[in-house]
Amino acid sequence: MPKKPVRLEESTLALIAHDGKKADMVAFAIDHRKTLQKCTIVATGTTGTLLQDKVGLTVQRMLSGPIGGDAQIAAQVVEGNIRAVFFFVDPLGYHPHDPDIQMLLRVCNVHNVPLASNPATASCIIAALEEEDETP
Ligand code: PGA
Repeated sequence: MPKKPVRLEESTLALIAHDGKKADMVAFAIDHRKTLQKCTIVATGTTGTLLQDKVGLTVQRMLSGPIGGDAQIAAQVVEGNIRAVFFFVDPLGYHPHDPDIQMLLRVCNVHNVPLASNPATASCIIAALEEEDETP
C-alpha cells in the first residue's frame, strides 16, 4: 500500500451523501471549500454534480451510488488511493444499495482510512488534515 500523503495537494478525498444528507454535504463543502480545493476530490455521481454546480469544486465523478459508485470508491480505498472518506449517511432512509454502503464502510475500517459519516466528524477530520499540511 502506498505511503499516506501529508500534503493536501497530494491527497484524494472521497465525498458521498445520501439524498437526505446532500444539503448538509453542500453546506460542509462550502464551509471548507478552500481546503477541499487543494485536494483531488472523488464523489459519487449525484453528489459530485452538486459539488461542482453549487460549490464550484472540480470533481472526479464516479457512477451514482445505487448503480455502483460506492463500490467504485470502495475499490479506490482498497487500492490505498483515498486519504479520507466523507460519507454522510442518512440513517432514516431506505437504500437499495445497502450492501455497497456497508462494503465501503467496512473497507475503510479494514484499511484504517478516516471515515466521517456526519458533518461534525467531517469538520474534525478537515481540521486534522489542515494541521498535518502545516507540519514542516
Ligand atoms: P449519489 O450516490 O451521490 O449518486 O446520490 C450516493 C449514494 O446514495 O450512495
